[in-house]
Amino acid sequence: MSASITQSSSFQLIMDLFKNAKQNSILLLNTQGIILALNPAFTKHFGYTEKDIIGKRFNVLFTPEDQRKGLPEKEIERVLATNQSNDNNYLVDKSNTATWVSGESLLIQIPKEGSFILKVVENIHVQKAAEISFKVLNNFNENVLATIRDAVIVLDEKMNVIKANDAFLKLAGKEGSVFPDLNFMEFLKQYDPGNKLTMGLQQAIKLQSAFSNKEIEIETLPGNKKVFEVTCTPLINSRNNRFLLIIHDITISKEMEKEREDTLGFVTHELRNPLTNLILSNELMTEAIKENDLSQIESILARFERSVQRMNKMISGLSESTKIHSGIFELETSRFNFGNMIKEAIEVTETLNPSFRIIVNGDTDFSVVADRYRLIQVITNYLSNAIKYSVENKEVTLEISRNHDSVTVAVNDKGIGISKESLPYIFERFFRVKKTRKIEGIGLGLYLCKQIIHAHEGDVWVESEENKGTTFYFSIPLQTGFIVADNQIKT
Ligand code: ATP
Ligand code: MG
Repeated sequence: MSASITQSSSFQLIMDLFKNAKQNSILLLNTQGIILALNPAFTKHFGYTEKDIIGKRFNVLFTPEDQRKGLPEKEIERVLATNQSNDNNYLVDKSNTATWVSGESLLIQIPKEGSFILKVVENIHVQKAAEISFKVLNNFNENVLATIRDAVIVLDEKMNVIKANDAFLKLAGKEGSVFPDLNFMEFLKQYDPGNKLTMGLQQAIKLQSAFSNKEIEIETLPGNKKVFEVTCTPLINSRNNRFLLIIHDITISKEMEKEREDTLGFVTHELRNPLTNLILSNELMTEAIKENDLSQIESILARFERSVQRMNKMISGLSESTKIHSGIFELETSRFNFGNMIKEAIEVTETLNPSFRIIVNGDTDFSVVADRYRLIQVITNYLSNAIKYSVENKEVTLEISRNHDSVTVAVNDKGIGISKESLPYIFERFFRVKKTRKIEGIGLGLYLCKQIIHAHEGDVWVESEENKGTTFYFSIPLQTGFIVADNQIKT
């Protein structure tokens, strides 16, 4: 087979046809892949003239990478074996730019001349670019969907979930599963007792309308309820009726809202008493001064002082709890002797309650790395409660036990005890057992203890029996290296 073109009549016919083609770029190759001819459309689309590539192997039109992969040779092999070959790949044009093309190669037999390959090339770069950018966009959308925290789903008009992101799969407890066969109405049943959301959705589907801000409570983990806000938007451009649902977690803002209400309620309710007392004391004092009755003034002043102290305690407790609640609370850890710390907490409590006896049991001669000041705060809170809610019994026991990775402190009293119903709420902010409301207190002590111990990655708990007594516990971990020999301690 020759690399030159002879001018037989049938060959001339093909050349004429091929030169007149305006849209399709055509090459004529011999069976070894040498370029014998190209049409004007090829020059127009890819820049090469006859001078540039005639007599060269058509390999020059492939990218170096495709050449390395042997794509030109494979194409020739295929055409020779099957008379035809289709390929989509890059064609390197004269300006060395790779353009995505779709090519069809045909084996043609010309009497007397032999076999040739006719390669018709179509420039599909624009389609390909559109396809690639569509893919990129799609990937981008998928990535956005996968990373956002909101659960996003697409429903059909029967409320079947036809698309869902990871956040939704997690919410539905189907994390990591192959795409679940899930009907949203079925999923909703257990969380929508009044059918409010279900009806809203049915209405939106029927009327092709949108809604937002519908709230729903979902138990994401046993005992852990979260509040979500659901927004529904019909997907206007979809051929079938599709609806986009965004399920946004608003638990934290709900909690903050509740906290604001609680705080406001607390402030108005609890501060009113001492404030009324102050106003009253003031009036009494004015009257006593007017009447020159100095004997009264001392007791009025004492009352005044008590009210001021109570208000002061409330305000500092409130500010402390707000600080802790909003996360502006950092532990200041140091290494100290546990026993010395306990001693200090007991001294503080005993000074304020001289008639009580605090007994310590257990070995306290070890050291920990923790926030010393905060632990004293926890222990004095436990002790002052034990004393405050003991009435008759004047003895409180403090027991320290330790294992290889944690220390537990238990404060036991033989006081009024706590009812079973109240126990679950005892560490909640502002919670006070009804029958103790006459005793001074604001219901923040235990809440602060819990937050401090949690910040130490420890735990708090309580055991109690009404009229028998109560034991409050906390434990904090002693991670490796936290316990050191006592001769290394300076305190
Ligand atoms: P304060 O914030 O001033 O400490 P408080 O003592 O009322 O006020 P907490 O220490 O948080 O608040 O205790 C909450 C409630 O738990 C108390 O009001 C009381 O009803 C109950 N309680 C706490 N400790 C005991 C105890 N040792 N025995 C019986 N009841 C207790
Ligand atoms: Mg208390």
